Amino acid sequence: MAKVPEAMARLFGRKWVCRRCKTVIKGDSGKIRAGEIHCPKCGQRHFRPKSKEKRILKGK
Ligand SMILES: [Zn+2]
Repeated sequence: MAKVPEAMARLFGRKWVCRRCKTVIKGDSGKIRAGEIHCPKCGQRHFRPKSKEKRILKGK
C-alpha cells in the first residue's frame, strides 16, 4: 500500500512548486512522484507541495 493516502494529495490540492525556480505547476501527485512531470522552465523533476509551504509560513 502507498505510504501516503490519496487524501493527502487532495489536501495538497495538486499544486506543486519547483525547488529550483519556484514555478507553480499542476499535476497528479502520483506522476510527480514517478518523475513523469518536468518543470517547464528549468526542466528538473524536484517539486514540493505548494500548500505545505503555506503551512510552514503559518507556523512562523
Ligand atoms: Zn523549475
